[in-house]
Amino acid sequence: PQPEKLPLRTVLENIRTLFASTAENEGLGVEVEVSPDSLTVYADPQLLDQALINLVKNAAEATRGQQARLVRLKGGLDKSGSIIIEVADNGPGINPQSAQQIFVPFYTTRPEGTGIGLSLARQVMVAHRGSINFFANETGGTTFRLSLPV
Ligand code: ADP
Ligand code: MG
Repeated sequence: PQPEKLPLRTVLENIRTLFASTAENEGLGVEVEVSPDSLTVYADPQLLDQALINLVKNAAEATRGQQARLVRLKGGLDKSGSIIIEVADNGPGINPQSAQQIFVPFYTTRPEGTGIGLSLARQVMVAHRGSINFFANETGGTTFRLSLPV
């Protein structure tokens, strides 16, 4: 990767813009929240974008057919000072039988899926000495959390 210092708000707003027409056409809400607002992240812009696009695509697909479809992109810091980027959806959640396998290349549960999105996102995080994990939201749905070292 060729890391650059990037304003996190700009990164996340750009991702929202990429999905703006899909969001409009499908009635999907996409929210961006960054705190503190001035956070920067040291990452390869193309690779980080690709990872985030894959996560937002999955989140959007997961909410298809649900009421009040929403994807939230959240930037922040954790206790150790790492940059955290979360992509949260209000979809049906991850099937417990899939949970162990979702990062495996070509693993998919979708009829037209390729199973590449999450394995690529994980590769990007590994290349940045970061990590990716996920958890179930209290209100239903799933949050994917990227962590990047300072
Ligand atoms: P694909 O999207 O082509 O299926 P991915 O690697 O992006 O491949 O995702 C692998 C699998 O992980 C999906 O098929 C789906 O079962 C599960 N998954 C990923 N993101 C979500 C999500 N936000 N909500 C529910 N399931 C998800
Ligand atoms: Mg996918």
